[in-house]
Formats: sequence, structure tokens, C-alpha cells
Amino acid sequence: MEITAAVVKQKGGSFDLEKVRLDAPKSDEVLIKIVASGTCHTDMAARDQLMGTPTFPVVLGHEGSGIVEQVGKNVHHLQTGDHVVLTFGYCGDCSKCQRGLPAYCENFFPLNFGGSRLDGSHSHHLAGKDLQDNFFSQSSFATYAIAHKNNVIKVRKDVPLELLGPLGCGIQTGAGAVLNSLSVSAGASIIISGTGAVGLAGLLAAKAVSAGTIVAIDINEERLLFAKELGATHTINSKKEDVIARLKEIAPKGFDYAFDTTGIPEVIQNSLAALGSHSKMGIVGIAKRPLELEMNNFVATGLQIIGIAEGDSVPNVFIPRLVEMYRNGQFPFDKLIKTYAFEDINQAIADSETGVTIKPVLLIGDYKG
Ligand SMILES: [Zn+2]
Ligand SMILES: [Zn+2]
Repeated sequence: MEITAAVVKQKGGSFDLEKVRLDAPKSDEVLIKIVASGTCHTDMAARDQLMGTPTFPVVLGHEGSGIVEQVGKNVHHLQTGDHVVLTFGYCGDCSKCQRGLPAYCENFFPLNFGGSRLDGSHSHHLAGKDLQDNFFSQSSFATYAIAHKNNVIKVRKDVPLELLGPLGCGIQTGAGAVLNSLSVSAGASIIISGTGAVGLAGLLAAKAVSAGTIVAIDINEERLLFAKELGATHTINSKKEDVIARLKEIAPKGFDYAFDTTGIPEVIQNSLAALGSHSKMGIVGIAKRPLELEMNNFVATGLQIIGIAEGDSVPNVFIPRLVEMYRNGQFPFDKLIKTYAFEDINQAIADSETGVTIKPVLLIGDYKG
């Protein structure tokens, strides 16, 4: 079939809307009419070829939401008309998947960044040539997408489908870090560094579980004000204030948790200096420099630092749970979203990179709610 897809033709290039030929789904795959797709920093990392693959030309996009159009013959849990959120690809067969850890799937890299199916085939073609695709097993910057049955998550129909795509990646990463990986509980104290979409999703999750003290740290004053609106009890502008002194003043006995989304060693050190004994820090940021650690601090205090992929989410369970929390008013992640027309994809990406918009979502297709 002919679809419209945003194609990046070269490293660092723009997203150009093109008429592309899409094959029929294979037996384990699902064809989805895309309603909307969030943009996430990983799309830009792939555009800039930071992971090596995919190469170009490529169809990116990995926070798709839409409606099932057609299912392959081995797909039994979905049917035409289902509302779905697309999430990251995982194989379902490896030892990590079998242990309920799909975010650590042994095939995670090729399934999400390989630029093709595992067997090397492509489903997108432009002017007779194969395109790099299968990005996060979906390539959802397009009017239709093909996803593997594993990463198509059915959601209820009485919520706005066009908002749900980011639950598949960025929002799930932040909320999952707080709810799954750190298991922040009512009354606990937490430091959240970085107030982008992932950090603020973590903040909303901390608020949802009634964390007692929630401190947001950033250098962007406007974002800090917004963090307060969303439920931060304190904010610190690390450009203007002595972060460690402020944190010690807020929690003299030390914090229970920290969640870092910046990947900046100095920022992480500030939080580590303010954690209490037997506390836990989760890190999700992409670091450009190594972090030096004083090991004796860990032994003496029982401090833990954990790396977190995709919020340790089991998407079939966690995404519907986030949808329920949203419906109940406990998790208003829609406040992080600004929608854009599909034609304005380059503006949406630019606004995400400059920080004008926290989470841009492209409106791609109509649907009847
Ligand atoms: Zn696996
Ligand atoms: Zn992402």
C-alpha cells in the first residue's frame, strides 16, 4: 500500500514527507493506522547516527498510537479496530524476556536500532529502493506502520488515543523509573534532576504515589516553575544556587531516592552527596563523560545506583496501568504534551531540541473516538 512517511535522507538531515510503499504485515506482525506519534530524543540521536545504525534513508518514530488495521495469522490477542500504543521491540524468547525483563532483551539493539527486521528485510520502499526501517519495531512517523505483535499494546477506547503514544517510551521511562525501578513509596523523599519529559513523568509518578518531598533540579527557570505546578515541593536552579547546601537544608538526614535524567557527572554527584543511608539512585541519562565514585561511601551506607532502561516496564501491564492512572486524574501526563500537524514535524523536532516544547506529539491520522 502507499503511505506517507517522514524520511530522513542523510545524517543530521530534515524529516521529509514522502509517498512510500509499505508491504503487507508478516504472520507475527500488525498493520496499524497511525493516529499520532510522539517525538523523543532517541529519534534525533538516530537522525544524527549516534548509535551507528540505522543508516539512511530511514523512517524513524517510536511513540506511535493508532488503530489496528490488519493482523498477521499468528496474532491472536489483537483484532482490527483495537486502539493500541506501540512500544519498544523485544523478542519474547531470550532469557531476559522470559524473566519478565523485556527492556533488557538480548535482541534489544537489533530489534530497535537495527534498521530492518532481524532477518534483514525491510517493509518500506521509496522509488524502488528499500528504506531503513523497523525503528523500535514500528517506524511510526508515517500514516501506517508495521509493528511486531509483541510491541503492540491494546488500550481502552474511552481515552484520547492521540495523546497515548509517549506512554510507549518517554513517559513510560520516567514513570517506570519511579514506580517500578525505585518503587518510591508514600511519604518518601526524592530528588529529580532534569525536568524534560522523562524527569517530569517521574515527578508526576512520585506525586501519584504521594511521595513526601519532591525536589526538581534544572537550570531552566520556566521548567522549574512548571515542575512546581505539577507537584514538586521544592525546586533548585543549579545555575544560581548551591545545590548540595539546599538539598541538605531540605532533608538534613538525607533523601531516600534520586532520579537522574541528565547524565552529567557533576549533577549526579550533587544528588549522591544528599542521599541518606540505604538510599537508591536511578540513572537514565546518556552520559558523555565518566562518573567517578568514592566506593567507600557505598559500602558504609548501603547506597545503590541502578541503570534503568525503559522504566523496567513490562509494557502489556504497565502501559494500561498508566492509562488507568491518567483516567483517574492521578497521572496528568497530557500536561507535558503539545500537538503539531504531521507536516510540521521539523518544527516539532526543533521545539523539542530547544526546549520550547516538553513533549511534541504529531497528529497524523483521524479517528472516531
Ligand atoms: Zn528478548
Ligand atoms: Zn524514546
